[in-house]
Amino acid sequence: MREMPEDLFRDVFTSFIRVHILHHAAEEPIYGAEMIEELKRHGYDVSPGTLYPLFHRLEQHRYLVSESRNANGKIRKYYRITEIGRAALQELRLKLAELVGEVLGEHHHHHNEQ
Ligand SMILES: [Zn+2]
Repeated sequence: MREMPEDLFRDVFTSFIRVHILHHAAEEPIYGAEMIEELKRHGYDVSPGTLYPLFHRLEQHRYLVSESRNANGKIRKYYRITEIGRAALQELRLKLAELVGEVLGEHHHHHNEQ
């Protein structure tokens, strides 16, 4: 059976989700349920079982730090970006801009005007 793109590129989508997490955590502290909703808005159907390990790994690698807060009697874990995370996000932005330019053809003329 032919391997479908969603299997072959699963790691790409996982990385897109990581980029989303870093991006939003750079704007304000975020928590899991909120991020699941945000990702749904972008067309990613992510379960807590997928999302929480991503948060944990990003925290282990010090891209994020977490803090438990009491929100109306409910303990919620908020994540925010670190300096390491911000540096990684900046690098990702450059790489993304380059990739988008190439893949979506924004710099098409660079290849053809020879
Ligand atoms: Zn987003």
